[in-house]
Amino acid sequence: MAIFNKVVVLEKGELYLFINNLVKDYDVFAPVKEEEGIIFSKIDKADEICLSYSNTKNSMKEFLLPQSEELFRFAKKGNSNEIADLKEKKRRSLIFGVRPCDGKAIAMLDKVFLENIPDSYYKSRRKNALVIGMACNEPNQTCFCTSVGGGPFSYGGLDALFVELKEKYLIIPVTKQCEKLFAHLDNASQEDIKEAEKLKKNAEKRLKPVFEIKDINKKLHGMFESPIWEKIHEKCIKCGICTYLCPACHCFDVQDETIGEKGCRVRNWDSCMFPKFTLHASGHNPRPTQKERWRQRIMHKFNYLKENTGSYGCVGCGRCVEYCPVNLDIRKVLKDILESK
Ligand code: SF4
Ligand code: SF4
Repeated sequence: MAIFNKVVVLEKGELYLFINNLVKDYDVFAPVKEEEGIIFSKIDKADEICLSYSNTKNSMKEFLLPQSEELFRFAKKGNSNEIADLKEKKRRSLIFGVRPCDGKAIAMLDKVFLENIPDSYYKSRRKNALVIGMACNEPNQTCFCTSVGGGPFSYGGLDALFVELKEKYLIIPVTKQCEKLFAHLDNASQEDIKEAEKLKKNAEKRLKPVFEIKDINKKLHGMFESPIWEKIHEKCIKCGICTYLCPACHCFDVQDETIGEKGCRVRNWDSCMFPKFTLHASGHNPRPTQKERWRQRIMHKFNYLKENTGSYGCVGCGRCVEYCPVNLDIRKVLKDILESK
């Protein structure tokens, strides 16, 4: 924490007032308790926020890469087509309570959608968003961020990180924007910093790495034809939950939807777990069974993405472990890969 110019504190009793002030200037998204669990949702008032959560069921990727979005509309006008751009200027967004694993996923998505050929839709939402994290004092049983290069108090991809102390929040402003946002707050005392460091140590103790990520990356080279893929996928029922809830999965499909001579181009999330994901118009499917699809999921996350972007496609959030209906645990899959001959 010493590397930051200013680490500040906010009394717990002042959090609601602070958030309610932000709602005036930003669209604020935060963890909210709904029937289906604790999910990220847009809030109008601070008292809608649920602060007792290990992680939200959905990740905040949907605010940067919506599950379904219209890219533009088109209509036939005489002999030509008229295109209507739908990009509208929106209010700024502030996403509060993002766990450090999801912050790391944003840093990875930024590499995919902002480097080389920037995606203008992602770029405008990303530029317009402030992402405020909440450190994990009590990581979940299914979390494994430390095994994939992250940590319960890491701040990569975040604009600021909150740490919940007994009576206040310690706030680490990471970007200039958040330095400004929190400039009016008092500096943290040495005791506050010591309390936060103790919490960090305790959280890290609960998250002993379960494998060495570099070894997995190395091992996967040359494993394309391994018999292990025959076994790994056996339980999978192709529901796609693991990829839809994953903060790092980002595959999509683009379709034109038309009525008469008008239509719109839509981008929808897709999933490598679905049989039609790689189905060619000819009827040929290069990934005809779940074996090839699971191999792709692992290879993409732990080998290809690392080679292409420098980042892994898994941040250890544990959502796929927690919500897979047949308990297919990616940690076990990775350990089996490491132990395979
Ligand atoms: S959530 Fe489980 S069953 Fe569903 S596609 Fe993923 S691995 Fe297969
Ligand atoms: S693969 Fe699973 S554990 Fe890894 S980031 Fe995606 S949902 Fe989280």
